[in-house]
Amino acid sequence: SKDLDYIKSKITKHENFPKEGVLFYDIFPALRDSKCLDMIITRLLSHIYDEFGNKVDVICGLDSRGFLFGTVLSLRMGIAFVPIRKKGKLPGKCISLKSTKEYGSDVLEIQSDAILPGQSVILVDDLLATGGTLNSSVQLIQFLNATVLECIVIIELLQLKGRDKVPSSVFSLLSF
Ligand code: IMP
Repeated sequence: SKDLDYIKSKITKHENFPKEGVLFYDIFPALRDSKCLDMIITRLLSHIYDEFGNKVDVICGLDSRGFLFGTVLSLRMGIAFVPIRKKGKLPGKCISLKSTKEYGSDVLEIQSDAILPGQSVILVDDLLATGGTLNSSVQLIQFLNATVLECIVIIELLQLKGRDKVPSSVFSLLSF
């Protein structure tokens, strides 16, 4: 569609960033254009309402670009926003899990009291590459006895087959 082509035209590619051999997709040019950000959010909201109606309790955003889209969605939906962060950034009792991604590994954490047992959660990030980050993030939510309805990303890198590694359904706005 015209909207998706417009959003796609705002995503730039950078060779050998942040490491030799990696092709990096940059979402920030899309945010310089508020009309484009509005298109992204509008599309994601209509997908969420079509699929899940009012059944979502929590939007969980991944460190760090998942925070940008996640907080806007949670605000617009009138529900909680909860971050998953790299280790050592969140105070209080946390649970953590190691994750391996396209270029390196991280330990991810969530505050133990942030999501209640039985709540329904949507995870949000900017980009799905190998799926390591979303795989570990889904597991963190499940450790808290909550339900992951879906993982949502703006960009999916199809060649890496990341969605096969994610133990929940995955929705991507754009794929490359
Ligand atoms: P994965 O764990 O390999 O799927 O990598 C996904 C994570 O790494 C996400 O948090 C992304 O923000 C980040 N990431 C990996 N590749 C890119 C990229 O090309 N552009 C922006 N972020 C990326």
